[in-house]
Amino acid sequence: MRTINALDIEKKLTDVITKACTILPKDVKDAIAKAQKEETSSRCKFAMDVLLENAEIAEKESVPICQDTGMAVFFVELGQDVHIEGSLTNAINNAVFKAYSNGLRNSVLDPLSRENTKGNTPAIIHYNIVDGEGLKIEFLPKGFGAENMTKLYMLLPSVGKKGVVEAVVDAAKSAGACPCPPYVVGVGIGGTPEKAIEMAKHGLLREIGSINQDKELNELEGEIKARINELGIGASGFGGNITALAVHIEKYPTHIAGLPVAINFGCNAMRKEEVVF
Ligand code: SF4
Repeated sequence: MRTINALDIEKKLTDVITKACTILPKDVKDAIAKAQKEETSSRCKFAMDVLLENAEIAEKESVPICQDTGMAVFFVELGQDVHIEGSLTNAINNAVFKAYSNGLRNSVLDPLSRENTKGNTPAIIHYNIVDGEGLKIEFLPKGFGAENMTKLYMLLPSVGKKGVVEAVVDAAKSAGACPCPPYVVGVGIGGTPEKAIEMAKHGLLREIGSINQDKELNELEGEIKARINELGIGASGFGGNITALAVHIEKYPTHIAGLPVAINFGCNAMRKEEVVF
């Protein structure tokens, strides 16, 4: 049994949250730079120039990449042979409070009274208990320009793969420029409705440019990306041939009577960080 102190987790996470909100990950920067080369519209090329310059300034001056520093989402993989000294949930929320009280926008409020909770808490935490003595925490701050465009389709099983592709393209079409393209598209296929949405969001964490090890999903990702880019939305919605930087699909077995498909967008400020204890 391995013991990890909750205070150590809180300290490390506070730095990780600040870093994630101010430094755009390399794979996202590289993907935007590559997209800029492939883009044919001069307006979209300019928009991507601005995005890259913005990321450079944010990193140099340690200021947020975007004013919307999002709702704090975490995926936690906790080994069953780990003992946390203290509360892991409190450690995560304390880290969010500290980081967001120090120059990041506090966007979280009561859904009905609309009263701000202060410190951007509580976080959204997805726990997954796994074998072993490890602890991995992935963080992604989610702005609501992209979150508001999340879609869930409970498709008829008979629509098959073709229906899945159409659903994702339909979600991108109706979202237009709201998720701040160029974006990453997370897709969750199967499970129950909430499982599909969780997979779609988790898919955003995969490195852009990495190959899906499932050959069938890899092909689907390519097909969907091409179809979304044919929509002509373009960077910042200026009308261009690159809207999606990548499509990342996760799947899970589902019920004989259903075919859930969820879509979650990761905007051009696709912030993410991972910490392993
Ligand atoms: S969707 Fe992303 S880039 Fe657009 S405003 Fe929100 S956080 Fe910023």
